[in-house]
Amino acid sequence: MAISDVMTTSFYQGVLRQFDTAAELLGLDQELRVILRTPKRELTVNFPVRMDDGSVRMFQGYRVQHNVNCGPAKGGIRYSPEASLDEVRALAMLMTWKCAVLGIPYGGAKGGVNVDRRELSKAELERLTRRYATEISVLIGPDLDIPAPDVNTDAQIMAWIMDTLSMHSGHNVPAVVTGKPVVIGGSEGRVEATGRGVFIVAREVAKHLSLPFVGANVVIQGFGNVGSVTARLMHDAGCKIIALSDIYGAIYNPNGIDVNLALQYVKEHGKLLGLPGSQEITNAQLLETPCDILIPAATEGQLTHANADRIQTKLIVEAANGPTTPEADVIFQKRGIPVVPDILANAGGVTVSYFEWVQGRENFFWSEKRVNEQLEEMMQTSIGHVLHEADTKAIPLRMAAYAVAIQRVALATEMRGIYP
Ligand code: NAD
Repeated sequence: MAISDVMTTSFYQGVLRQFDTAAELLGLDQELRVILRTPKRELTVNFPVRMDDGSVRMFQGYRVQHNVNCGPAKGGIRYSPEASLDEVRALAMLMTWKCAVLGIPYGGAKGGVNVDRRELSKAELERLTRRYATEISVLIGPDLDIPAPDVNTDAQIMAWIMDTLSMHSGHNVPAVVTGKPVVIGGSEGRVEATGRGVFIVAREVAKHLSLPFVGANVVIQGFGNVGSVTARLMHDAGCKIIALSDIYGAIYNPNGIDVNLALQYVKEHGKLLGLPGSQEITNAQLLETPCDILIPAATEGQLTHANADRIQTKLIVEAANGPTTPEADVIFQKRGIPVVPDILANAGGVTVSYFEWVQGRENFFWSEKRVNEQLEEMMQTSIGHVLHEADTKAIPLRMAAYAVAIQRVALATEMRGIYP
């Protein structure tokens, strides 16, 4: 078994464990537990792609729909050498709870292709995407399952998927994906939405815990779509971003990093390392840097039993999916470090994806101001529900978010009943 298999298997087991703990807390009916913890549909596809040198390479991809009792399945697609069926299962299940905690009428899904995007030319990337889209076209559609960008996928890739499905149908099907470019039916504010949601959550939870926000020392792991937007919004709001990282390494500046400069530097150099005025550290050191707010915004399994005792922060906000293992969660609980769970913290993306889908179906498009206001309102409402659940039941924020989400999906499942 490869190391990545060990990691991803434990990620899925971790997500199941979080569900089991919440189900126990809620005293959920045993039969309902079995239904809710089992993925509804799982598709594995193997497909050939013609490479630029004329050779043919086989790729493996996945699409998993975890639960569709509250609406069509929704979830991103990631391109990663670590992508596996178990990882996609875990992420699909998280999507079910994420949509439910926000009260969005969707079920949970996720997709992935086992590929290192950096090895492909743009033409190869397009051929791979169009073929993968064709392979999973038996499952996706505006009323069935709506993909979106995730790690190493973006608006361009969504445009190719939308175009492929539209070519199959003979007419435009914009609502088959979200996170598209605005020019073909994407939503204003979608690119920034996940980071904006993380920012809103960090600000509101800090306020609730009476932690100062303006002037807070913030550490962010990952400087991609989510991490960079979060960093910029927090910087603009007066937080001090003292450490940032990407896959190549991390940078530290106790006086605060100018995030706009960092964005410009990454555009020019492709990485953060070498940003003038900053000191190079490792990603492991970054996580252990003393700070007020720690935001893992890269990938899963970053805060584990191996480093949880050395994390020196007052608040963790999970911008990435699954960055904290269940073992680390227990340690943080014992140490009194609150963890805002992924299913709430990074739900801004799926919320604006929902807005994009609604706009696409109505062919009536909103201003960025309206998108951001509506996002703020939905996030505020959900944060309020989760904080209330946590306070009244005296449970950690993750369990509170799961409780809100699971109760909604459980009720929908009970009301619909079992067919036939
Ligand atoms: P991205 O590909 O745009 O950026 C990922 C960033 O993390 C990059 O800076 C990359 O260099 C860095 N990175 C990757 N592996 C790393 C590692 N092992 N150590 C340190 N840095 C590493 O991806 P993204 O869209 O920003 O997604 C980041 C996380 O947020 C993922 O967990 C994703 O599932 C989650 N998420 C994304 C969205 C979205 O709308 N994009 C929505 C919800 C959740």
